This record gives sequence, C-alpha cells and structure tokens, in this order.
Amino acid sequence: MLTAETVYGWFRELVEKRRRVYSLDRIHVSEAAGCLRRAYYERTWPRPALDPSNVVMLIGNGVHEKLQELLTGKGWLVEVEARYRVGEFWLVGHADLYHPDEGVVVELKTTNKLPVEPYRSHLLQLNAYTYMLRAKRGYLVYIARSGEVKVYRHSLDKGMWSQLVKRAIKLHKAITTRTKPPREPGPWCTHCPYKWQCLAKR
Ligand code: SF4
Repeated sequence: MLTAETVYGWFRELVEKRRRVYSLDRIHVSEAAGCLRRAYYERTWPRPALDPSNVVMLIGNGVHEKLQELLTGKGWLVEVEARYRVGEFWLVGHADLYHPDEGVVVELKTTNKLPVEPYRSHLLQLNAYTYMLRAKRGYLVYIARSGEVKVYRHSLDKGMWSQLVKRAIKLHKAITTRTKPPREPGPWCTHCPYKWQCLAKR
C-alpha cells in the first residue's frame, strides 16, 4: 500500500544518497555559516524518517541543478570545491556557480518567500567562497517559490571571513567534545529536521 509515509521514505532515501558525509578533519562552510547546533545534530543524530524538510530540500536542489545544468558550458563551473586549512581540520566549501574568467561566485538559495534582507548565514557562506576562490565579487540569488527573484551583490568582507573561521573552530570543538552548541533560533527553525530535539532538551 502506498502511503504518505512511503513517499517521505523515498525523500529520505534521496537525501541520504546525496548527503556529503564529512570526517572530523573537515568542516563544511555551510555548516559553519548556519545554525551550529543544527550542524552538530547533523553530525551526531540520524535524520528523522518522516520529515517534510527532506521534501523542501530536494525541491530546492532541483532548481539548483536545472540552473547549473543550463549555465555549464556558458563559462560557469558548478559545485566548485575550495579548501582552507584551519589548525586540525580543513574548511571545505562548494560554490554553486563560479566564473573563473569574470572572477564571480554565485550562491543560489530557494525560499518560500523573498527575505527583506539577505540572511547573515547566507552572506557568511558567500563571503567565504569569495575569499577561498579569490573571486572579485559575489552574488546571492534568492529564488522564491512564488516565482520572484532577488539578487544581492557582495564584496569580500575580511571581518565576516574571520567570523566564519571562528564558527568553524567552535563547531569542530563541539563535535570532538560531544558538546551541543547553543541554539541559534530564527526563521530557519521552521524547516529544521531537529527542531523537536532542539526544543525539548536545551
Ligand atoms: S531548531 Fe533552530 S536553533 Fe534548533 S537546531 Fe534547528 S535551526 Fe538550530
């Protein structure tokens, strides 16, 4: 019998297949830029099975992939890996789009509705790719499910870069010592797969 649970199961399987699993000597830029507690849970808890956030994530990934497919061959490189050594670990990132001739890096974000201002976590992420790829400038592209699009231009901010590195160090320490980082609540909590654990146990 086909039920909603079956379909959630399909999505979960897809997410697990695509999930990049990192060893302790790597912290991903997106982990350090977003809620550190969520990143900690991702590393230490199995993902819940019946979870709408898997569906939301894969819908967003579909848009990313279609745009990346279109722009490959137009001078853009996709999922470009960048690394930076921080003490005991590598800070690793994958930029959605990078144009080496133009020195431009682009981060794509699908959302339910356009934010009034870009999220700090998204700027931290884009800023890190701008730094790591030595890009001249970056663009943060929001694509809303309503069909609206908003683009923010960004130039390298060294203060944001050191903030991101400090966050990566904090996360690395939290994982190695199995100490849950503090909550970083915000609108992103709505689609957080760990919100029940997070709310239940401080
Ligand atoms: S519910 Fe919010 S604060 Fe808690 S882990 Fe998820 S994103 Fe972080």
